[in-house]
Amino acid sequence: MKGDKRVVIVICDSLRADLIGPAHTPFLVELAERGTAFAAHRSVFPSTTRASSASIATGCLPARHGLYGNTQALDEGDGLVCRNVGAPDFRDRMRRATGRTLRVPTLAERLRRHGEDAIVCSNVSPGAAYFQDPDGYGWMYHVAGSYAPGLKPIDDPASASLKKGIAGDNAMTDRFCAEIVEERAPALALMWLSEPDYTGHHSPLGSPQHLEAITAADANVRRVFETVRRLDPSGENILFITGSDHGMETISEAVDITELLVATGIKAAADSHDVVVAPNGTAATIYFADSARNKIAATADFLARENWAGGVFAGERLAQIGLPTDTSLQVAVTMAADDRVNPHGVRGYCPIVADANDTESKLGFGQHGGLGVNEQHPFLIAANGGFTARKETRPTSLIDIAPSVLRHMHMDHDDMDGHELPLSA
Ligand SMILES: [Zn+2]
Repeated sequence: MKGDKRVVIVICDSLRADLIGPAHTPFLVELAERGTAFAAHRSVFPSTTRASSASIATGCLPARHGLYGNTQALDEGDGLVCRNVGAPDFRDRMRRATGRTLRVPTLAERLRRHGEDAIVCSNVSPGAAYFQDPDGYGWMYHVAGSYAPGLKPIDDPASASLKKGIAGDNAMTDRFCAEIVEERAPALALMWLSEPDYTGHHSPLGSPQHLEAITAADANVRRVFETVRRLDPSGENILFITGSDHGMETISEAVDITELLVATGIKAAADSHDVVVAPNGTAATIYFADSARNKIAATADFLARENWAGGVFAGERLAQIGLPTDTSLQVAVTMAADDRVNPHGVRGYCPIVADANDTESKLGFGQHGGLGVNEQHPFLIAANGGFTARKETRPTSLIDIAPSVLRHMHMDHDDMDGHELPLSA
């Protein structure tokens, strides 16, 4: 690259800050002592990987970037339909329905304006990967399809064979360290691990399998940091950031909000286009056709009376949780989390919103999406690039990462929702 200032980011999907400790994440404990550990770091709403990915990429809340969760209702001409943002074709659907993908530039786009490269390697869903750079300003490596700048499809056998889980993450890390960080040395190199999210969704939090996935993620962060340290022994040039996008809660029960809205008469039928529920794990967003806007108050009142609902936001109140107030999304609900402890000693249970497209029972396993204390407790550590060794207790958010990346590269970043992470106390 032209400048000597670079940034390397590693995301450990779903790793809760309180699960970091010497027994299972020895490297993250060590790194937190070398760099700045952000103790009051928060996710966005919904605390889903895809909305979080767009917030990390843009430095903006969902209200401004326009991606409202892991599922989102779109009107592609036949009325509102809930779509899976994770599907490889979602960004094309979004472009057809709204004329664009994200409504604000990503880091990849901003770097391209300066003639710099961003390279993303991701082992999570296509949607979460592609919303790092949906319009293809940089390089994207993913099992569902890899792209060169200009969204030019490239044949990339190393990505095409990746599977979610520890082995896939390990293989991606090998390639990321050797080829991306060391050889190609782009201005921004970002790697998104599938663990411990993948195992957390399929086993109890704190179980031996989940702890093994956490330890594997820790080891992969160590390998990337050691590569960075070898390339930049002074620590002045390559800013290293590692963190997670959200945490998890243990699932206590599933609630079918669509079915309940039909039963109360608010929604015409399970597949009707008037009132459309977008399940987002431990939260839901609810969209209203123009002809059904008279149902907004009744929907919010119905949800507020249910004991499984933790918080209901409608109309102007959506702004309080970083959602827009001027779209068909008019009601959001976060489910009622509680602080019971699971059989493996991990705190926090929460109901999930049933999803007709994902009916496999995950009771007792991890999930996220809402405003629960634990799902809203991702970790964040910044090392090198002027970050001093200390614990920062002032609140920070996913949206503060992008402005900090651009500050390090001496590029403008005053038009984002987020703020620079403080370099010193
Ligand atoms: Zn995630």
